[in-house]
Amino acid sequence: MARVYNFSAGPAMLPTEVLTRARDEMIDYQGTGMSVMEMSHRGKTFVGIAEQAEANLRKLLSIPDNYKVLFLQGGASSQFGAIPLNLGNGSGKADYLNTGHWSVKAIAEAKRLVDVKVVADTQPQNFTTLPAEDEITFSGDADYAHYTPNETIAGVEFPYIPDTGDVPLVADMSSTLLSRPIDVSRFGVIYAGAQKNIGPAGLTIVIVREDLLGKAREGIPSMLDWSIQAEADSMFNTPPTYAWYMAGLVFEQLLASGGLEEMAKINRRKADKLYAAIDGSDFYRNPVEPAYRSWMNVPFMLADDALDKTFLDEAGRQGLVTLSGHRSVGGMRASIYNAMPEAGVDALVHFMNDFAKRHG
Ligand SMILES: *Cc1c(COP(=O)(O)O)cnc(C)c1O
Repeated sequence: MARVYNFSAGPAMLPTEVLTRARDEMIDYQGTGMSVMEMSHRGKTFVGIAEQAEANLRKLLSIPDNYKVLFLQGGASSQFGAIPLNLGNGSGKADYLNTGHWSVKAIAEAKRLVDVKVVADTQPQNFTTLPAEDEITFSGDADYAHYTPNETIAGVEFPYIPDTGDVPLVADMSSTLLSRPIDVSRFGVIYAGAQKNIGPAGLTIVIVREDLLGKAREGIPSMLDWSIQAEADSMFNTPPTYAWYMAGLVFEQLLASGGLEEMAKINRRKADKLYAAIDGSDFYRNPVEPAYRSWMNVPFMLADDALDKTFLDEAGRQGLVTLSGHRSVGGMRASIYNAMPEAGVDALVHFMNDFAKRHG
């Protein structure tokens, strides 16, 4: 069975090299006679796997020493609630940028716990654009400010990091972390569900500046308390061991293929090729303002949506799958995370050109 080019927004493709290695190590992990899935999380072998994964992630992102890296469960969605519980204990106010579906979800969850002020809102533009940097005014007295650097559904991505002054900046990087280098020191907290660009579902990464620990609200569930998790090396309970191991394999593979500088070059090239194909044709259309187009999630519409089904069927027969757009946007969406080879984007562009010729 040949592997397809899977354009799913998440869970998404993993590098074939990583899957092959996991397969080879599945039954007998390095002479232990057991699978990583079957090991105690407190045993020497797994602790070694866990520490190596963290060290490699730190290297990839150049994470400064005054940040903790947590390997948690519950997805980005659990963090929507964990953030106000961990940080909303001063003025009880928080600033949020409302720039897409995931911002909406994060805001809804935060509103249950803190006084949310929406300081930028692109919902009236159907989330097809972003605020310019100088259009956002943050409150000086907020406990934190939150935004979503890449909105997975609308396909918009911030080309800048908002300046919040002394207010800690919190970023949901679920669909962009590891796509390129970032300056971690600009953030108070970075978090991401793994299933887009890191590893299998079930693992959630939280990178938190140490001075933000120990401020949680009274009554916070221990599982959601970053200080408790940091103190326990993310092993307050049984962590998602296999997903952690898989993420570690992905980190190793990224380091071996040139790190995030190299990924950024490839990702930029992949996105440029796809947007060029869309813009270069009257048959396809991407609704996002060009300055804010995502490198990772590319929605596009056909000139005639009656052809959507034919497009998906024909693409599928050529091994180009999961191209259907999110129901709230319609049309198509190609998610082109790190693990999507450039050859996959080339194949999609070739198919799109051919399809437009035949049906345009
Ligand atoms: C997928 C996604 C989420 C939801 O992640 P879960 O891990 O399923 O909770 C949140 N934010 C963004 C930006 C996403 O892409």
